Amino acid sequence: MFERPLNRLFEARKGERHGDTVSGHLSWHQMPELARVTENAASDQIQVSVRFERTEDNVLAMHLDIQGSVKLVCQRCLDLMDFDVQGPCALAVVTSEEFLARLPEGWEAVFANDDFFVDVHQAVQEELLLRIPMVPKHEEMCGLVIEEDDQPEEKPNPFAVLAQLKDKQ
Ligand SMILES: [Zn+2]
Repeated sequence: MFERPLNRLFEARKGERHGDTVSGHLSWHQMPELARVTENAASDQIQVSVRFERTEDNVLAMHLDIQGSVKLVCQRCLDLMDFDVQGPCALAVVTSEEFLARLPEGWEAVFANDDFFVDVHQAVQEELLLRIPMVPKHEEMCGLVIEEDDQPEEKPNPFAVLAQLKDKQ
């Protein structure tokens, strides 16, 4: 896993020029919105790689690759479960609403300031919030103990009932 903490701010245009991948970890205490909806400890970490590039359709793209899982409460058995949130995503770096309106179709955007600094912690947090299911459940059946229902119901034995009647006489 990555030793270094991930910087909060990345200069997208500088990243585009260098083209290298920067990796580091983010701790839960740096993502308060995520912490509110997950059961992770504040010291838990997620691994992130960041890379910028200019795409063929002339978009300054930020590529995130996230590795790790979040702790959620399964809504079926109410036990904790690890939910896998790993995977890449690409976001178009924009600095204004006009910029956003000019994006080619199909791009999700991330806002940078006028100097093209992007808050990567915020972007990762938003991406993770999107990946968390509304109603988390273990993939396999859990919590429900399925009992074999092949025992016949206990009915009074007619002969026993007769015997009782005889005793009463
Ligand atoms: Zn469960």
